[in-house]
Amino acid sequence: MIRFSINIMRGCFGGCTFCSITEHEGRIIQNRSQASILQEIETIRDRVPGFTGVISDLGGPTANMYRIACKSKTIETACRRPSCVYPGICDNLNTDHSALIELYRAARNTDGVKKVLISSGLRYDLAVESPAYVEELVSHHVGGYLKIAPEHTEDGPLSKMMKPGMGSYDRFKALFEKFSKKAGKEQYLIPYFIAAHPGTTDEDMMNLALWLKSNGFRADQVQNFYPSPMATATAMYHSGKNPLRRVRRDSETVDSAKGERQRRLHKAFLRYHDPANWPLLREALKSMGRGDLIGNGKRQLVPPYQPRNTDDYRSPRRKNSNRKKPGHLRKGRLLTQHTGLPPRK
Ligand code: SF4
Repeated sequence: MIRFSINIMRGCFGGCTFCSITEHEGRIIQNRSQASILQEIETIRDRVPGFTGVISDLGGPTANMYRIACKSKTIETACRRPSCVYPGICDNLNTDHSALIELYRAARNTDGVKKVLISSGLRYDLAVESPAYVEELVSHHVGGYLKIAPEHTEDGPLSKMMKPGMGSYDRFKALFEKFSKKAGKEQYLIPYFIAAHPGTTDEDMMNLALWLKSNGFRADQVQNFYPSPMATATAMYHSGKNPLRRVRRDSETVDSAKGERQRRLHKAFLRYHDPANWPLLREALKSMGRGDLIGNGKRQLVPPYQPRNTDDYRSPRRKNSNRKKPGHLRKGRLLTQHTGLPPRK
């Protein structure tokens, strides 16, 4: 997909603490001109072997920050806020998506282009500020599924990630469904979540699993937080303090899931539907005093029985994909890639 995708900008003013793009690329967005982007589309069309008329992405660190910036250059230069969109969208942020809408229209009207998809992550709390943009995106640029990243449902971990609450997700979902219906398209949102982020308790993961179950989601691939260079969450992970507030000896402490068992447990909550995780989840639920969640009911998380061979369970997507994929992409290694933990024996 990378061969047919185009970077339209650099930088991100989101400031999510587990990500270091703001440190690498800057908080002030650097935009390419529309002419330069259209020229690259034509170059792909004319010179890249295998091009079938589908541009797989017009994006960047975040899909919808193109030509969005602070209303005042002077304020922007002096501003020390780590995010323009957290804890809420700053009053000084110009949230006008019209340049992006214009770019999408010009891109899909280029000769030889049949479809332009948007695959970069969307900042949905920003997108809901422009329903016209959501309509444009949903009507023309979603290939059946749109990946978005609420990252969690609980306020505790979300406040350590500097991510918006689930209210923004619900508002975006309502717009997504409204405009999909208007366009006559059957399309779905795929929400992504992170397990074991600093500030996440076992109860937070249990509540996330209950949300997933009640909303009918079964995560196939999941991410466990892994401390990486330059990310603010890494400072929380190592220091046990919250650097988003003034750090003192007695300031807020942040606990992180450390050690193999707790990290596996947090990931297991995200994959509550996998029988291989049921023994660990049952044990944890009992010790948390939530044995009531063990059972076969709709509101319960794991059944009381254990199938004889847990390896028999595979999600339909994984079952089919394993047959085609080369060895280095098969189940155990794929998990290693996403979690940083060794494959299960
Ligand atoms: S004043 Fe607001 S919009 Fe401007 S740079 Fe600071 S946080 Fe961003």
